[in-house]
Amino acid sequence: MKCIKISHLVAALALLTGWASAWAHTPPTHAVEQELRAHQVTEHVYVAHGPQTFPSATTGGFMNNPGFVLTNNGVVIVDPGSSVQIGRKLLKTIQTVTAEPVIAVFNTHVHGDHWLGNQAIREAYPRVRIYAHQRMIEHVENGVGQEWVALFEGLTEGATKGTRVTSPNVGLTGDETLQIGGLMFRVHHTGRAHSDNDIMVELSRDNALFAGDIITNQRVQSARPADSDIFGQIEAVKFALSLGRRWIIPGHGLTGGREIAEQQLKFLQDLRNSVQKHFAQGLTDYEMTALVKQDMKPYQHWYNFDELGRVISHVYLNVEARDFED
Ligand SMILES: [Zn+2]
Repeated sequence: MKCIKISHLVAALALLTGWASAWAHTPPTHAVEQELRAHQVTEHVYVAHGPQTFPSATTGGFMNNPGFVLTNNGVVIVDPGSSVQIGRKLLKTIQTVTAEPVIAVFNTHVHGDHWLGNQAIREAYPRVRIYAHQRMIEHVENGVGQEWVALFEGLTEGATKGTRVTSPNVGLTGDETLQIGGLMFRVHHTGRAHSDNDIMVELSRDNALFAGDIITNQRVQSARPADSDIFGQIEAVKFALSLGRRWIIPGHGLTGGREIAEQQLKFLQDLRNSVQKHFAQGLTDYEMTALVKQDMKPYQHWYNFDELGRVISHVYLNVEARDFED
């Protein structure tokens, strides 16, 4: 138990330092005083796209893509955001579209920007079912949720104050099919990928896939020690593509079609190939960083490209572990 907690703390600290350094060269964004705007993707699916940025006082920590689905019996939310404040804004946004109640929530994984808004939904709808991978619930019970609350409160200089951990209450393992309000939600988990508790939620009626952070749109994801695995994420993106859905709602960045997943796959494969090539030549992660960055130059316009050095270090560990297994 102690080991788990320490590894989580390390991950949270890595995020803190990564995000703090990223913030230093992130251009200022518009204040989050703006209401979250709902963008209709399909007949039943809406997304309030978050800004491509990191948590700050200016954004109130808003950075993910909360989504919602209109069913016959009420609203299903996917990832209600990074704080109780964002969750409340999301409810107001939903009310501009429908007067129906919220009947269910999905959390795609344990990273706090996606689910700390659960609190606002539970306050407004005390009996709402909140679904997540069973392992996410275990992480939250082991204290990870509290670490995310503290991290966001620090990075936003108190803008998220009042946010409390509200855990999902229905555990999933992936492979479930849930009928909610007359629509079929298929839940997928392909193993350790962006984290060890990712789920993707597929809505066949609308030909759409909520991909969580398995797929982000033109964004370099900061590495998360002990959490992500590039080999697993490549397999997860391939699986997402195999579903053949018309609409892909990424965890960050704009919604689009399968080209988003194809770009993500190519980025991950190019990164893995580059690190593997230099690893085979006996270079350490430090020695290969400039060379890998050179190989990855076609992606230099992607958000957060400056953080690639940290990502390389993490991918190096994945490659080393895989090499050891073989
Ligand atoms: Zn994430």
